[in-house]
Amino acid sequence: MTMNRITDESLNQLIGIESLASDNAGDDKRQVDRIYHSNIVSALEELRGYRASAIPVELTDPLNDSELTRLIWGLKAEGFHQRLLTGLVELQQRRNADRQPVPEVMICDMCGHDAWLQEHGTYECDEGHLFEVRRTPISKGGAA
Ligand SMILES: [Zn+2]
Repeated sequence: MTMNRITDESLNQLIGIESLASDNAGDDKRQVDRIYHSNIVSALEELRGYRASAIPVELTDPLNDSELTRLIWGLKAEGFHQRLLTGLVELQQRRNADRQPVPEVMICDMCGHDAWLQEHGTYECDEGHLFEVRRTPISKGGAA
């Protein structure tokens, strides 16, 4: 599956812009705007966390799925903010992919036998080979 991705640089830029917009709205007591922009910041930070690690990031107050869907819907309807929309769609896809059930049985790469899912997402085959398929943190590139 190919899809457009915004760059990490774009993502960081957007987080900066939206944080600022949220702060400004807060200053002016424009509560609805402030919530809107801080929701976007929350979603973008979650996406940044996903990109840095295969494990979903723990956020103190992540958007729920319907809030995320509403944001995406709103951005689509507006027709501007293409980068923002692309970023939020990526987050939605990552969330969905994350909920795919892990298969109970895999084929062991080392011997070709069946390998069964153990606790903690580890697979073990008849020959005792252990491996992990997902939920393994990939090494974090660059500064956190
Ligand atoms: Zn094996």
